[in-house]
Amino acid sequence: VSELADLYAVQLSDIAIAQSKHRLSHLPEIELHTSTKNDVAAITKSLAETVARGASAKKEINELEAAGHANDAAIARLNKQLKTVIAPREAEALQHEIATCSQQRSQLDDRELELMELVDLCDREEAQVSSQLAHAKQLDAAAAEKLAVAQREENQSLERLVQQRSAQALVVPASLLNTYEAKRKHRPDGAIAKLSGPTCGACHLDIAQGEISALRALPETERPECPHCGCFIFFEVGY
Ligand SMILES: [Zn+2]
Repeated sequence: VSELADLYAVQLSDIAIAQSKHRLSHLPEIELHTSTKNDVAAITKSLAETVARGASAKKEINELEAAGHANDAAIARLNKQLKTVIAPREAEALQHEIATCSQQRSQLDDRELELMELVDLCDREEAQVSSQLAHAKQLDAAAAEKLAVAQREENQSLERLVQQRSAQALVVPASLLNTYEAKRKHRPDGAIAKLSGPTCGACHLDIAQGEISALRALPETERPECPHCGCFIFFEVGY
């Protein structure tokens, strides 16, 4: 009977260990940290997009400026040519060409203005998103720290339980412990149970009074088991 009392203590520790492990993998701090990590990733991505948009606009501005210089040179060349031609038809053709180039130049300028506004917008957005990112990183660091603390605490309590379980198991005969482990595979929290009145604490079925008396009367060498679920029945002293 005292062996079963010791075994019952082992099972209490095993249940507490399982609960502690479950808590470890379901800490609310895990979800919080995942959420702050996702925020940092999303804002980092958005910042990269803004920077890329600004860079691409700046690149296009450089290209437009090169095109503008080429355009200016073409207009200058055409104007110079215009001074040398005498035939009105040729002059008209050159004037037409100059007008086309000027129109192109004005389109280039309009586009460049548009792009400069875009660059300005991107710069402002970059500053704003950068400060958002800094804030998100702070929250993420705080969440990581909180998670580490919670994990450390739960791990410490788990370690204490594991040590306690080892000490408790030392006084239980190895063969009984093996049988218990085998029973636990089917019933993790009810390999050994107390009776609550006539009710088995593991399967919650009632055991007939006659059977209970027979179980109580078993010799020391035989261990009482629930006739329904097969768990060990542990009769507390005085019951
Ligand atoms: Zn039972």
